[in-house]
Order: sequence, then structure tokens, then C-alpha cells
Amino acid sequence: MTDIHKFGGASVRDAQAIRRVAEILQQHSDQKAARLLVVSAMAKTTNALEEIAQAGFAGKTEESFGMLNRLRSWHEAVVEELFAERPKEKQSLLAELNDLFVEAEWLLEEEPPQNYDFFYDQLIPLGELLSTRILAAWLKTEGLPVVWLDARDFIRTDDSFREAHILWEETISRCRQQLTPLLKENKIPLTQGFIGSTSDNYNSTLGREGSDYTAAVLAYALDARCVHIWKDVPGVLTADPRIFENPPRLDRLSYREAIEMTYYGAQVLHPKTIKPLQNKNIPLEVRSFLQPERAGSLIQNEAEETYPPIISIKRQQALLQISTRDFSFVAEQHISLLFQHIARLHLRVNLMQNSAISFSLCLSDQDGKIERLVEEIQELFKVQVQRHLELINLRHARPETREEVLKNRLVLLEQRLGNTVQLVVKKLEKVKYKN
Ligand code: ASP
Ligand code: MG
Repeated sequence: MTDIHKFGGASVRDAQAIRRVAEILQQHSDQKAARLLVVSAMAKTTNALEEIAQAGFAGKTEESFGMLNRLRSWHEAVVEELFAERPKEKQSLLAELNDLFVEAEWLLEEEPPQNYDFFYDQLIPLGELLSTRILAAWLKTEGLPVVWLDARDFIRTDDSFREAHILWEETISRCRQQLTPLLKENKIPLTQGFIGSTSDNYNSTLGREGSDYTAAVLAYALDARCVHIWKDVPGVLTADPRIFENPPRLDRLSYREAIEMTYYGAQVLHPKTIKPLQNKNIPLEVRSFLQPERAGSLIQNEAEETYPPIISIKRQQALLQISTRDFSFVAEQHISLLFQHIARLHLRVNLMQNSAISFSLCLSDQDGKIERLVEEIQELFKVQVQRHLELINLRHARPETREEVLKNRLVLLEQRLGNTVQLVVKKLEKVKYKN
């Protein structure tokens, strides 16, 4: 039996956090189950690497080297602090990190390739490679039988760079070949979340925050008993604590509820995480690494019970209202054509609705793709675009919740299905004057 433990960026952010990971693992050992660790890059590293990739791709080599050096000093400072009294381990770890940085420098010195997403994926895994090297070295000095493994050796994907899809068969057989023997010997394999490789041995990544998904993929491949995701929040909350004051925690929730929440913007888990677990009925516990003794939120096969109101908000949304230029009805062939453009641009459609003369779509507004879509379709269609909107997803909401959430927001479109209400809204700067 295997338990998978995933540690996010916040749980390896500095020397203190890394020490805590060791404590958690020492306190949470269970003779009956082997353990496998999946780890993210240190907090903020992936954002920093994205900036480096942008500079590198734009040919600003000097700038990208400057940023890479800052990233290096920051990682080295953590190593210095952790291994102050262990000069031998420190030297060999610093040498390992140095090799990884040298590889990144080579990449930045070369003429950047045509495809940015490809270039991005060759550089970005550095964050996870660094954090796992540091954590593995520390856990070993703490006496844990950890074995560092390169996830690119067993997480196989297609070449949709930056949002690669898992090649399941190959991944499963590689995981069983490479990981099962170690688990049987009671070793603790430690590997990177978020990264994989293509059949041509190029790096690939699974989409931002994808480490959760890696944990689920490994759980599926190895028929794990349970997945524990250690986070800096006490579990799954009913709303985003950055937006709402003290939202209550959900002690238990069904796979279905978790899928709905994360799909519609709850950032607690990567939305793809739940499905592989649900397919094999593997429970997932989201727990706080700040209070490791407390039980977390348990996501599993639950009878649908009554839930408190659950609110998720997706920001950076655009609402497109599309009508034909000749005022004919929007017919199926128009919609089909429209979706060909949408699919090609990899746009994410979050909500749609049609009426006699117009077709409305709420889409995620990222990377200039909305402009491109509008440009491509405006010859055929009349398009009205509203941007900087939010998509609010309310589940099990009572009228008071709705009223509270919509304070200061103007509803542009509303849809209801079962116990879910979705609202495309505009945030108002000022409240209306009422007489
Ligand atoms: N390091 C990656 C990110 O920040 C993956 C993850 O943290 O899950 O998106
Ligand atoms: Mg993260």
C-alpha cells in the first residue's frame, strides 16, 4: 500500500518550511503504507522563471541572466542555512544545483526557438528540479530513506507544451517499473510535480499548479491508498480566503463537489486532480502543514449531502456577444465555425447561452487570445466584447449569500442548473446612489 504526499510551494519556501516537512514525515509514518513524495518548486520560483523565460525569448539575455542569478542566490541561501553545520553535504548539493543552473544558462544563450510554449517548458522545470534536490538532501540527513527521482523518466506526455496531456499507458508502465520496487523496499521516492517529458525526450509541463495533478496521476498508476496534499490553508474552504472573511472549512466533500469547485476557479486544487482519483476511488485529504496534527478536508465518494453555500470566482473573464452580420438567426453552422476558431486558439469557454439573434460566450481572457479570436471572426460576425469581468459560481446558495456576493457587482448574464448559479458580473467601482 502506498500513500502519496504532495508538498506545495509554500511548504518548501524556506529553510524553516523544509525542516517542517521532515518533522511531518517523521510524525506521520505508518508501518502499513509506503510513501511517495511529490514536490513543487519553492514558492514564487515558477513566477520568477516565467519572467526569465519571457526575457530569454525576447532575446534579452543579460536581463534573463541577472534574474537567474537572483534565483540562484536565493536557493543557495536556503542551502547555506540548512546545511551550515554539514559542509560536505552542502558542497555536493551546491554542485548539483550548479549543474542545473549551467544547463539553464545554455538554454538562455542559444538562439530562442520559434515556439514560446516549447521554450518555456524547456526552462521552467528548473524550479522543481532545484526544490526536490534540496529537500531530498535535507530529508536524507534527517535519516529518512529518500530516493530522488526525475519525474521526466516516468511522467510521459504529448507535446502540447505548457498544458501537456498524460500518455497514460506509458506513464503507468514506467511508474510501475521504476517506483514499485523502491516502494516495496520501503524507500521513499521523492519526485517533482508539474513536469514530464515527451516521447522525443523534451521537457513538458502540465499547466500551472499542476503538481496536484502529478500526485493524482501517480496515485492512479500505483493504485495508492490515499493522497495527502499539504498546503498553507487548513483544508478546502467554502470560498477564497483572499476575497472572503473567514469562510468555513468543509470537513468532507464528494469528488463531484470538488470537481465543480475547482473547475470554476477554487484555487485549492488543480482542476484535473480529482478525476483520476475518482476513477479508482482513492481518497484525497487536503491538510495544513502549519497544523499537521489537525485532520484536513477529506474528498472521497460521498453520498450527496447538504453543503453550506460554496462560492468560487474566476477572474479575467471576457463576455462576447456574437450575431450574424445579416441579422439572420445564429444557426448551428455558425456555432460550429466559431468553435473551430476557439479550439484552435485553446480558449477556455466557461459559459454559453444563445438567443434568437445572438450567441453569448464567457471565456478566460488570457495571453491576448480574445483579441485574436475577435480578429479572426469579425469578418463573418458582429462581435461585442466586454472585458475585465468575473464569473461567479454559487453552489447551494441561499438568497442572502447571493445578495452579499453581488453587492457592488453588476450582473450581465445569469444561468442556473440544479443547485448551481453562474453569474457573469462586472465589479463596480462605486456603489449606485439610492434615494
Ligand atoms: N510550480 C508550479 C507552479 O507554481 C507547479 C505547482 O506549484 O503545482 O505552477
Ligand atoms: Mg504551487
